[in-house]
Amino acid sequence: MSALEAGGRTNPWAMRSLQAGLFGLFLDFLTLSLFGAGFPQGLAFGLTATASLVAVSGVLIAHASGHARRRDPRFEGVDLGTAGLLLSLLAFVIAAFLNGLLGLLLVPLFWPFWIVLGIVAATLHLRSRAAEQAFAATYDASSESAACSRCAQREFLRTGRWMGDAWICRTCSAGGSA
Ligand SMILES: [Zn+2]
Repeated sequence: MSALEAGGRTNPWAMRSLQAGLFGLFLDFLTLSLFGAGFPQGLAFGLTATASLVAVSGVLIAHASGHARRRDPRFEGVDLGTAGLLLSLLAFVIAAFLNGLLGLLLVPLFWPFWIVLGIVAATLHLRSRAAEQAFAATYDASSESAACSRCAQREFLRTGRWMGDAWICRTCSAGGSA
């Protein structure tokens, strides 16, 4: 949450997800460059395993970046988080294809598991989506303020805060129980 409190105009999560995506792709290409005579299998596996982890963290950071962007409309410029997400996904697919993980993940036996996982993730998202939409609906760019979700008083972005899935004013955050 520190990124939200930084109050800067650039979204630090977006840059980090982009870096993770690029680093994951770099590891993928490094693995591909090993193909040929005397292919070191252990090294290749290590590289693609690392690339997968880096790419997954890139996806998670891009996700945090999207929330940060919706919760602080002062973030400006191109949304690098989307680029970070796409590059991280690409890096993951390439790495997972190279080390055989992709074939394993796509086994029909696992499909119900992925579907349930998707439904759970989507359900968990409904609350934050609703909170972010309510926030966006009352946000006023000229005063940089939005209505508190508890007492409906206008609060400035720099003094209010996000607590879980709720945008709340200073008074409510000081006296609130959550
Ligand atoms: Zn309030």
